[in-house]
Amino acid sequence: MSPAARFWSRKAMASASSFAAAASLKRGVSPWRPEPPALGRTTPRRSSIGLGCFRRSYVAAAFDNENREFVIVGGGNAAGYAARTFVEHGMADGRLCIVSKEAHAPYERPALTKGYLFPLEKKPARLPGFHTCVGSGGERQTAEWYKEKGIEMLHEDPVTSIDIDKQTLTTDSGKLLKYGSLIIATGCTASRLPEKIGGSLPGVHYIRDVADANSLISSWEKTKKLVVVGGGYIGMEVAAAAVAWKLNTTIIFPENHLLQRLFTPSLAQRYEEFYKDNGVKFVKGTSIKHLEAGSDGHVCSVKLEDGSTIETDTVVVGIGAKPAVGPFERVGLNTSVGGIQVDSQFRTKIPGIFAIGDVAAFPLKIYDRIARVEHVDHARRSAQHCAKSILTAQSHTYDYLPYFYSRVFEYEGSPRKLWWQFFGDNGIICY
Ligand SMILES: Cc1cc2nc3c(=O)[nH]c(=O)nc-3n(C[C@H](O)[C@H](O)[C@H](O)COP(=O)(O)OP(=O)(O)OC[C@H]3O[C@@H](n4cnc5c(N)ncnc54)[C@H](O)[C@@H]3O)c2cc1C
Repeated sequence: MSPAARFWSRKAMASASSFAAAASLKRGVSPWRPEPPALGRTTPRRSSIGLGCFRRSYVAAAFDNENREFVIVGGGNAAGYAARTFVEHGMADGRLCIVSKEAHAPYERPALTKGYLFPLEKKPARLPGFHTCVGSGGERQTAEWYKEKGIEMLHEDPVTSIDIDKQTLTTDSGKLLKYGSLIIATGCTASRLPEKIGGSLPGVHYIRDVADANSLISSWEKTKKLVVVGGGYIGMEVAAAAVAWKLNTTIIFPENHLLQRLFTPSLAQRYEEFYKDNGVKFVKGTSIKHLEAGSDGHVCSVKLEDGSTIETDTVVVGIGAKPAVGPFERVGLNTSVGGIQVDSQFRTKIPGIFAIGDVAAFPLKIYDRIARVEHVDHARRSAQHCAKSILTAQSHTYDYLPYFYSRVFEYEGSPRKLWWQFFGDNGIICY
């Protein structure tokens, strides 16, 4: 056995035995063991033995990740908190790989429609200021942190397919990755207005990541009339930030009052008054018919179902999100519930594959049903619960009380800042 092979084997055995102990304690009916990472590789770890020696020793497929024992797909909120738990248990170094679509180390996503959108003179939030886990008072895990902890990060290379039998993933750039245990933390993508009604016109924005927020900020530098579509928390936060830019802002939504799923009509009324006092206009109870482009192809007006037209030069759409199950559909994971169905330890029905955060449809014990929760508190807690269940003998049920918050008008010089918290049922998506 070559030195490199021994290296992998030692690690795999250590891991497998701690796993086996945990598994036999808690899994009962269908125990499983993580597969030791496969040995095939073309790019050897730096070692004293020569390349030729590697080439003679390895006959299996080559893999493009060094850390193969645990792989997290998705580099967002949940991934950042899971990484912290792996580090706390001494199981990250040389073992954990995170594959991310984004260019940045995991960050606290809620900042994007809050401090991030403020104009420059009002001291906006910027990376590296809000990397996980600062949102819960934890360490700021910058790119250097991941390097120091021996966590392999692959950026801007989304996973496009999975081979369950071979325990491999393929990325957009064609990398072949091997995993022992896999955690799916792909979150959601912003729901879009259909292209045929102008949902992809230049000047129409959606906001899910830093790139989206940067694109919006650069358009706001030229915007005069803004239309925000959607009266949920994203729409309300965007509209509040637009006040800091002194934009002529109109919010449009089909419901009778804003934050319909969370607020009572009277609470919504007070909230709305506060926005109106800051110059924001409301168009309620009607939907978008289509968005129109001007002669330059850029969005120029919004046609509503009630027959009215609103002129605009920038539209921000905040109409919800969809679980990013893409590469994991039709491979035997249950996605019929909208997200990826897991049990109270975040295990999918395929041994060794887990799902956490926004994408996971889990048993919400308190309400006795399967639910997905698209809020950051759940992303953090589900990540920690799942990682602990994998790495320790923890076997207790995830017993979660949904919690959600929003903060608006927090820019420098704002006459009043608002912050609310919500505990319980209304803000969740149930099946
Ligand atoms: C603008 C905004 C504001 C928010 N504000 C609040 C708030 O005020 N309060 C609150 O409670 N919650 C808020 N949320 C929700 C909260 O941010 C999410 O619940 C949380 O980020 C979920 O974490 P996650 O890791 O599951 O998903 P995400 O943080 O979305 O991370 C998923 C990651 O996976 C990546 N990815 C997707 N597909 C692939 C693939 N195939 N391969 C590799 N990578 C992939 C994505 O690019 C992303 O980096 C907000 C969300 C947004 C978008």
